[in-house]
Amino acid sequence: MRFFPTLLAASLMLATGAAAAANGDTVIPAAAVQTATQLRDKAMGDDTGYKIVQSLTTEVGPRLAGSPADPRGREWAIAKFKELGFDKVYTEPVTYPLWERRSEHATIVAPFPQPLMLTALGYSAGTPQGGLTAQVVKFDSLDALKNADAATVKGKIIYIGFRMQRHKDGHDYGMGSAVRTQGPVIASRLGAAGFLLRSAGTDEHSRTPHTGVTGFTDPKDAIPAAALSNPDADQLERVLAYGKPVMVKLDLDVGFHGSYTGANVIGEITGRKHPDQVVAIGGHLDSWDPGTGAIDDGAGVAIAMAAGKLIRDLPQRPDRTIRVIAFANEEMGLWGGRAYAQKHAAEAGKHQLGTESDFGAGKVWRMSASVKPQARGAIEQIAKVLEPIGVAYDPQRPGGGGSDLSQMHGKGMAALSLTQDGTYYFDYHHNANDTLDKIDPREMAQNVAVYAAFSYMAAQAQGDFGSAPGAFAKDGAED
Ligand code: ZN
Ligand code: ZN
Repeated sequence: MRFFPTLLAASLMLATGAAAAANGDTVIPAAAVQTATQLRDKAMGDDTGYKIVQSLTTEVGPRLAGSPADPRGREWAIAKFKELGFDKVYTEPVTYPLWERRSEHATIVAPFPQPLMLTALGYSAGTPQGGLTAQVVKFDSLDALKNADAATVKGKIIYIGFRMQRHKDGHDYGMGSAVRTQGPVIASRLGAAGFLLRSAGTDEHSRTPHTGVTGFTDPKDAIPAAALSNPDADQLERVLAYGKPVMVKLDLDVGFHGSYTGANVIGEITGRKHPDQVVAIGGHLDSWDPGTGAIDDGAGVAIAMAAGKLIRDLPQRPDRTIRVIAFANEEMGLWGGRAYAQKHAAEAGKHQLGTESDFGAGKVWRMSASVKPQARGAIEQIAKVLEPIGVAYDPQRPGGGGSDLSQMHGKGMAALSLTQDGTYYFDYHHNANDTLDKIDPREMAQNVAVYAAFSYMAAQAQGDFGSAPGAFAKDGAED
């Protein structure tokens, strides 16, 4: 019911030409809707996206930011954009602290000696040579740690046992990632010797710990911090339940190592009428190192690249430019996204609409948008094209723009959120099981269809979506 008046209005405006601009509403011309529908249907049966993520995860593999695989990933992205026929391919430098992982081990020393499976967290400090042995003090939540008396934790290894549950929207990761980022910082402030958490992950039967970044911003504040796999966290909790002092030895050879300059890699399909106006889509090129970065975020890079390629294959270039960004070092703090937003802040108004794919390769099931009120009708037109492939439009929610592009949204870019089914995402997220076999090629194709169709319609719209420097300032919420 919401859509019909818009459609009617759109047809009337098309008939009268300049009427679209006169009433101020943004409209997607009927011909563009038709082309987008064809793009959608073609993409649903196309394996370009899957082939791209297969190529990345096979030929480059794990892509820890600043590691020797980082430049190989960049070279791969440059070559892939060219191979796919993008009109323009370039890089923009991104500088960040270099953090290295060399080796990581842990054992329960007493009362029941045995090894533990864990992984160091990003920006963790290393332990002294020969390891660090200390008593473990357990907290049930981040709040409990916040209220802890420093005297009870000084010199101890703090452990927090928050367990994430599976949800389609993955909302438990809000707390899981808060424990991982804030927990080590609070522990350090309280004088703790180290920090352990139950992995921020939903798998139960795999001894694969989930890594991820901490909130340490200064190497001087960093203490050793690591995540136990879920079965190892269970084991540690059983041992703690005996009520005897539990001593754990951490041996982490990791740490900061100066700074590194990588780059965002950008490919464009140049707009025919307004080459300087861009629809921005992308994913992040870096990944954590235990797996091959298939769902996080090879999939996102591949979805955006494939969408660009399908639009490129149309008989005619779109009116506006499709800009696909493969961001550098999202994992250790949105470094690529922040560098992009800083560099392009003054061009926020030239960003027609944007969003990034960074939640795996599960089907997109929900769309929401942060746009000006006069562009809501155009968003409903997009929603109508996406509805038959399982995407529901929620007009009440804002659109955050995804991870890295949330930063450009913060500068005033109109943004969508295209929410993927994350039911199983946190089984594999940031662990050794993030490999290509977790991606269903059909679900991947649905994602490409969504990105190709929306990007094309945004590129062809008569009018804009409200992007301007400082716009959407009250809507800074990230995905
Ligand atoms: Zn990611
Ligand atoms: Zn990640």
